[in-house]
Amino acid sequence: MTWQADIITLFPELFPGPLGISLTGRALEKGLWACTAHDLRPHGKGRHHAVDDTPYGGGAGMVMRPDVVASALDALPGDGRPVIYPTPRGRPFSQRDAKRLAAGSGVVILCGRYEGVDERVLEARGVEQFSIGDFVLSGGEIPACALLEACVRLLPGVMGSSDSATEESFENGLLEYPHYTKPAEWEGLSIPSVLLSGNHRDIAAWRHDQSQRITQSKRPDLWAQYASRKPGI
Ligand code: SAM
Repeated sequence: MTWQADIITLFPELFPGPLGISLTGRALEKGLWACTAHDLRPHGKGRHHAVDDTPYGGGAGMVMRPDVVASALDALPGDGRPVIYPTPRGRPFSQRDAKRLAAGSGVVILCGRYEGVDERVLEARGVEQFSIGDFVLSGGEIPACALLEACVRLLPGVMGSSDSATEESFENGLLEYPHYTKPAEWEGLSIPSVLLSGNHRDIAAWRHDQSQRITQSKRPDLWAQYASRKPGI
């Protein structure tokens, strides 16, 4: 069954965008996933198809109307796929979320604009909220692409080697070790000699050690979780 992504947006021309090339683009061509962007505008109100209005309580900016958003969501088949709203107010999106979503039949993504979406429709339609980082973008389209790429590359048949996913950052709770390729000497910099040793056990041990060091120094939050699961550390 094809993994189906439906995206509700004011800018449907942005899809598949960067997802139409390389790994995700080839997977799209092969029918391993499908991507349909739905224009929110026709669901808008009045002569100008307004999708937003001023915030109750005052303040700057505009808010996307619940009735307009609900009309767009309800026009899609109610097939149980998770509905996701990318927002800085959401839970941080993680590799675990990508795996869970990739294991299902697809997603519906609601792209916000302006100050965001009326809270009532998010609650009433059981929408999951995810952030892609502690910064603010102008719209949900780029976060939607990031979420989708993270999921699609995990779908069966999308990545060439099944090893590529299992060795990556976050798979074992650690960041990945550093990579090196030819030339072995570049601008006076050589590569770690263990990588030339041909001893696969030593190489694996060195990589694991590097993963631990990098995680400890760059992501103390991940390291604390990892260390709590490994009493020997
Ligand atoms: N007023 C919102 C706030 O302060 O949390 C920001 C709204 S932002 C200008 C417009 C839209 O961009 C959001 O509704 C959301 O869909 C998207 N967006 C912006 N930053 C994001 C982030 N870090 N993660 C996920 N979505 C984001």
